[in-house]
Amino acid sequence: MHIVVCIKQVPDSAQIRVHPVTNTIMRQGVPTIINPYDLFALEEALRLRDKHGGEVTVLTMGPPMAEDSLRKALTFGADRAVLLTDRFFAGSDTLATSYALAQAIAKIGETFGAPDIVFTGKQTIDGDTAQVGPGIAKRRNFLQLTYVSKISDVDLAGGKIRVERRAEGGVQVLETKLPVLITMLEGVNEMRRGSMSDALRAARAELVVWSAQDAGIEDILKCGLRGSPTVVKRVFAPSPRAEKAKQVEIQPAAIDTADALIETIFGQLPALEGELVELHQTL
Ligand SMILES: Cc1cc2nc3c(=O)[nH]c(=O)nc-3n(C[C@H](O)[C@H](O)[C@H](O)COP(=O)(O)OP(=O)(O)OC[C@H]3O[C@@H](n4cnc5c(N)ncnc54)[C@H](O)[C@@H]3O)c2cc1C
Repeated sequence: MHIVVCIKQVPDSAQIRVHPVTNTIMRQGVPTIINPYDLFALEEALRLRDKHGGEVTVLTMGPPMAEDSLRKALTFGADRAVLLTDRFFAGSDTLATSYALAQAIAKIGETFGAPDIVFTGKQTIDGDTAQVGPGIAKRRNFLQLTYVSKISDVDLAGGKIRVERRAEGGVQVLETKLPVLITMLEGVNEMRRGSMSDALRAARAELVVWSAQDAGIEDILKCGLRGSPTVVKRVFAPSPRAEKAKQVEIQPAAIDTADALIETIFGQLPALEGELVELHQTL
């Protein structure tokens, strides 16, 4: 069984600050980590490999320093790490990122064996879009299982997989054919501690480092800024609110709670009713 896990190196959001004057994100000196959601995907992949045999390949697209995250993934027990790095990838939005990763996954398939499962995290903690996984699936023509909370069964001989997917108001049980792309939910497992031998192996391991050309990417115009139609116009921190929330008491015996609440609020803030009516008329 060959499993590919896409991991992204992200700034540790707990330590990010927004510049008070320019309102831009201050990344300098901020440590980087593996996107936390991707660790749930990696652990699930390692468990499947331990149960069914095979290999886990971790893949990241990023600058050369993303090597740190790949080595970390090797210390957890991944078998192989692929770094996709090239100046052509700079400034990629989700369209360009999923294109480059999909191409690299095709190349991984040709070089190391076709993947049965490709995992991504549910989303990242910096871009936060949750678009890259589905974008890869579409480009590779894989069936996609999103927001997966449990891998119930993998039938390699029959080429099938059954999973649980968290949906609004319940859990869906889905069965489909391999190969699939799975976006893994958070909190579904606990990342193992790497063994000493894996730590030693990770430190010495030779990573597979591919440029766009190495990965067989033919259309460079689909990569990086040139392949990215999205534009971030402004990044800003929400301004802190000066006023505190008010607690409004209503009579417990009120027949219609919503009506009673609105009456009480308008009673305490008489100008508000007029302002809301005016606002409604302008919409
Ligand atoms: C509107 C917009 C404009 C942007 N513009 C720029 C820009 O100009 N310059 C710039 O540098 N960045 C830019 N970004 C950030 C860039 O698009 C994202 O970092 C990248 O496309 C991944 O998207 P995401 O972080 O939302 O991933 P998500 O879709 O949330 O990620 C889901 C999963 O996909 C996988 N994944 C995502 N990215 C990678 C990766 N690189 N390698 C391996 N696996 C991965 C992970 O498993 C992850 O859990 C922009 C983002 C947005 C939303």
